[in-house]
Amino acid sequence: MVQRVKRGNFKGIPYTVIHRPVKYARLEFLTGELRIILPYGMGVREILTRKERWIRKKYQMIQNSLVEAENLPIENRSHRELKELVIQYIQEAERSLGVKVRKVQIRKMRTKWGSCSSRGTVTINSLAKYLPDRVLRYLVFHEVNHLKFWRHDRFFWNSLKRFFENVEKMEDVLFSYWFRIRGKSF
Ligand SMILES: [Zn+2]
Repeated sequence: MVQRVKRGNFKGIPYTVIHRPVKYARLEFLTGELRIILPYGMGVREILTRKERWIRKKYQMIQNSLVEAENLPIENRSHRELKELVIQYIQEAERSLGVKVRKVQIRKMRTKWGSCSSRGTVTINSLAKYLPDRVLRYLVFHEVNHLKFWRHDRFFWNSLKRFFENVEKMEDVLFSYWFRIRGKSF
């Protein structure tokens, strides 16, 4: 893939611009930094202005997470302990949600805690070995829930709300743990 990377700063918010063979512009905060994916030939100014409110809100959220992250307690499981616990939560989530996971894998992921493929493979980031039980359990339920609801729409969240008191909070906590774990060496 041909891509060019440029860095910039939008009113105090650092960003990276990447031009790719895509149709539409896209903004991401996947790893906590603003990345702007643009089709070739498109400038960055227009999308920054149009999305300023969203960018600011998200950026503020990340700054708060960074501060919060410092104090989060972490576990230190072995890979095997992580796998056992993940499988236990997968089974619980399967029963609760009435779905079947075809394959579970644990591997290092650079930008997210987990994923779920349409073929029924749930992938959990190996860094999840540092997450407390309740957070790991939430992560597993979130991914397994994708077997019922592909998108993060209200059906998806309503389904999770049957099992977790405060889904928004759990998402925030997961997000904060990203910074807690990413930025540290153990
Ligand atoms: Zn998801």
